[in-house]
Order: sequence, then C-alpha cells, then structure tokens
Amino acid sequence: LKDGINSATLIRSIHYAMERTHARGAEWSSAMLHLAQQQFLKAAHIAGLDPNIRQRLLFPERTQIAALPFKRDGIDQVETVFAYRVQHVLTMGPTKGGLRYHPDVSLGEVAALSMWMTWKCALAKLPFGGAKGGVRVDPAALSKDELERLTRRYTSEFIGMIGPDKDIPAPDMGTDAQVMAWIMDTYSEHVGYSVPSVVTGKPVVLGGSLGRHEATGRGLAYLVSETCRQIGLDLNGATAVVQGFGNVGMHAATFLAEAGAKIVGISDASVALHNPKGLPIDLLKNHVRQHRQLFGCPHGEIIPSRDLLELHCDILAPCALQNQITAENSSRINCRIVAEGANGPTTLEADDMLQARGIIVLPDILANAGGVIVSYFEWVQGLQNLTWPLEEINLRMRDILTDALARTQRRAQAEKVDLRTAAMIEALSRVGAANHLRGLFP
Ligand code: GLU
Repeated sequence: LKDGINSATLIRSIHYAMERTHARGAEWSSAMLHLAQQQFLKAAHIAGLDPNIRQRLLFPERTQIAALPFKRDGIDQVETVFAYRVQHVLTMGPTKGGLRYHPDVSLGEVAALSMWMTWKCALAKLPFGGAKGGVRVDPAALSKDELERLTRRYTSEFIGMIGPDKDIPAPDMGTDAQVMAWIMDTYSEHVGYSVPSVVTGKPVVLGGSLGRHEATGRGLAYLVSETCRQIGLDLNGATAVVQGFGNVGMHAATFLAEAGAKIVGISDASVALHNPKGLPIDLLKNHVRQHRQLFGCPHGEIIPSRDLLELHCDILAPCALQNQITAENSSRINCRIVAEGANGPTTLEADDMLQARGIIVLPDILANAGGVIVSYFEWVQGLQNLTWPLEEINLRMRDILTDALARTQRRAQAEKVDLRTAAMIEALSRVGAANHLRGLFP
C-alpha cells in the first residue's frame, strides 16, 4: 500500500480498536466489514482524524437481529430466516439505507454496507447517517404471498428501529418497489395513518419519486460521461462491460448505451454474454421480462462468468456483488475506467493494483450514489406533500454528483491518493466535524 500505511498497520489498528471496545471478536466481524474498516482507517490516517472519533466510527452504533417466522404457502409449515438492521452513525440525522434479500446475507455484510452508506450520504452532503438491512433468504425461491408475509413480519419486528425521522429503508439487492409498498403499509397500519416517508423507492402512486427506479444507473452513467469528457475519451463509440442485470446494471447499461457506448459484455446470475458488435439492451430487457433471467437470450456468445470482467473495454461497470475485483484477477482487468455500481466490488489489494496501472476507479460511494440521492429527494417530497418533475430531479441529482466528483478529485490531487480514499476523506471529515461539534454524550 502507498501513503505510508500498509495492511498490517491497518489490521493492527482494527485489533487495537477492538480492545478499546472491550470485545475481542465482535459479532459482526466479517471479511466485508474488514474491508470497509481498512478503507476507513486508511482514509482516517491520511486525513489525520481524531483517534477518539475514529474509534466511534469504526463500528456500527446499533444492531438488531431477528429470526423471522413465516408460513409457507399451502402447507402447515412455519420457517424462520435470519434478519438484520444495522445503523452505523446516528449523528447526521435519520439513518438511511437499503434492505437486501439474499441467501448469503450476514450480519457482517450488513454492517459493512451500513458503513458505506454513511460515507455515501456524507459525500453527497445528504442529512443522513448510514444504515442497512438484510434478510438471509433467496427471494426467487418464495412465492409473492410468502415474500409479502416475510416482509410484513420484518417490518413489524423492526418497527421500533425504523420511521420517517429515524431510519428509512429502500430497495437493495433482491427487493423492489413492491417490497417497499408492503413495508409502508405495515408501518402505516401499525400507527393508524399513512406514512409514505418511512421508506423510499416506493411505487410512484404511493408517493414514490419520479426517476428513483433508474436513479442509480443514471447517476453512474453521468459520472462515467463526465470522466470520459475529462480524459478525452468519446463515450459515443466507447466499449463497456456491465456485470449484473438487476436494477443497477440494467439501467447503467441502458444509459451508457443511450450515450452511444457499445455494451460488449453483460451478465446476470444465470449467464455471461459477449458480443463485440454490441448487445441490444432493449431486446435483453424484453427477454428478462419474459424469462426472469438472461439465460437463453440469443444475442451474444456465452462466455464463462469469470471471464466477463477481463474483457477488453473502455468502461467496466461491476453492478452485482461485492468482492469481484481481487488480487487474483486485477492484473487482467483490461479497461480505462472502473465504475462501481455495486457496493464493495474491489478489494484493498486490487485497488492498489488498479491505481498502479493508471486505471481510474470511480468508487462505489460515489458511482452508485444516484440511488440514495433520489431517495433523499423522495423523502423530502413526501415530507412536504409535493412532487417535483423528472427533469428537475435528474438535474439536481447530476449537480450533486458533479460536485461530489469535483471535490473528490480535488482531494485526490491535494492528498496524492486514489479516488476512493479521497472520497472517503471528503465524507469522513464531514462526519468527523459533526461528531466533534455535537460532542460525546454524556
Ligand atoms: N440500496 C441503495 C444503496 O446501496 C440505495 C439506498 C437508499 O436509497 O436509501 O445505495
């Protein structure tokens, strides 16, 4: 590692911090939280963050775990799944972050994601701290009714934690606007009146914001296009590879293609497709609408999924899971710009290797912040009972992202660090200042 701080130092700092929490093995300890903590410590070290504030930010403030019981369809059988909500920082205002349904979700993963939400919100100057929720379940294996019962039970178990002034969930991997509608309904039934602002990413008819559904992909495409302009790469005709065809990947591919980029590779959990002439994104979307997956789509050649990230291209957008660009494959990454639609797709070692090769990495807390920015707009519109036109939403989102990118680049130059560390420094100096001003209670 550069910047006078190596992995061993970072790990020692984590152990030291653990001792100060009087806990040798924290319950949420995981590879992913370790990554989030190491990124944070590196930035904190370079920024010269007060060690007492550093200690307060290294672990999430509040965590709740539940075993959710729900009835299967048709048979008299109750199953339980593990569920989490983690609030990382309560200093900045209510906490904010998505709810993830995935068979591998763990407390450690949710904790890491909650920490990234804190930096993402602070970088965009939103008045939120970070949070995240998760249920360890495969949503594709459940019927719609089962999903509804599970979601309503989740809401009722975590009802003390969430609320429009407390903690506001949103869609993430495996959840969507319908899931948000069930959460809003359950919460509203509980208090006795409609509370749309308890969630964002709702259906528009229930108070959802125009543009929220596609916001993450749109924001990513804005940032890529601004970066291309800066380095003199014409996005019109440039080649792009997108890993993931969920809400983020699908819209990122759509907007990049709209700007003239040729999408030469794309994948979802079922298959990876390659087509040097460019994949027809609209036809791919139609296929997924009918078959729920890309598999069977006739418009590209099937390649091994692990090869997708190594395809030669100008722009590589990992928009699926964490831990994709690692020390093992980063020397074979063959692009000019990596735009992280996913949270945590690049490991610390891989980050350094990409940086050394001059590949520009637009870090997750910047590249995928469009979603939470429009979530913020949705929350604000809901609290004021008014609706903004789509053009205004997109313009405001672009302004916030352009400003965050410019501040990140200025930090990167001033501190001579990569964009991720710069974005983190920008974010944590804001949170650190707030911590300092509020003081420590009692
Ligand atoms: N789940 C999204 C994220 O990781 C959006 C969160 C939100 O809108 O609150 O940023």
